[in-house]
Amino acid sequence: IPEYAFIGRSNVGKSSLINMLTDRKSLAKTSGRPGKTQLINHFIINDNWFLVDLPGYGYARVSKSSKKTFQKFITNYFEQRQQLVSAFVLVDIRHKPQPIDLEFMQYLGESGIPFSIIFTKADKLKPKAIERNVEDYCNILLETWEELPHYFITSSSKKIGQDEVLDFIEATNEEIEQLKNSI
Ligand code: GDP
Repeated sequence: IPEYAFIGRSNVGKSSLINMLTDRKSLAKTSGRPGKTQLINHFIINDNWFLVDLPGYGYARVSKSSKKTFQKFITNYFEQRQQLVSAFVLVDIRHKPQPIDLEFMQYLGESGIPFSIIFTKADKLKPKAIERNVEDYCNILLETWEELPHYFITSSSKKIGQDEVLDFIEATNEEIEQLKNSI
């Protein structure tokens, strides 16, 4: 079944967003490899897609070698997942575009992995500031990308953007089904 990966800097609001998206209802937590540290969590949603919770990146206080190990872990995931349809890169709407996020998007692009951006914590800014920050982000992206990725503006505490993200995933799943059926 199709899977969608969620990733972002630590503290970006990923756990909260995943809680919002899964609503803790249709939620079945499946473990990756028992016995190993569970770095990746899979949630099956509506019996028809996987939400993959990838670990946060960008911890300030970790050694170079553990950064390397972590990078390897993430790149292994992206190289091996046949079912991965798309990634969602989470970005805190309050912050200026960060090199680490831009580099990560670059990596996804070069690896041919489609991705969308999820701006988080929108409740923390006024609409005008949201607009300005999103525009700044788009301008930076357009320096390296020909096309802008899909993006979503969300707030987990105010339940903003839940339907948009879920509808996007459902619509993508339907497209995949149709493609399969037409072959
Ligand atoms: P993670 O480390 O990326 O999983 O981030 P968490 O979901 O644990 O959130 C990190 C911090 O940001 C916590 O203190 C959350 O309460 C807060 N947070 C997360 N999402 C939102 C949001 O939409 N609005 C606000 N105001 N705070 C949020």
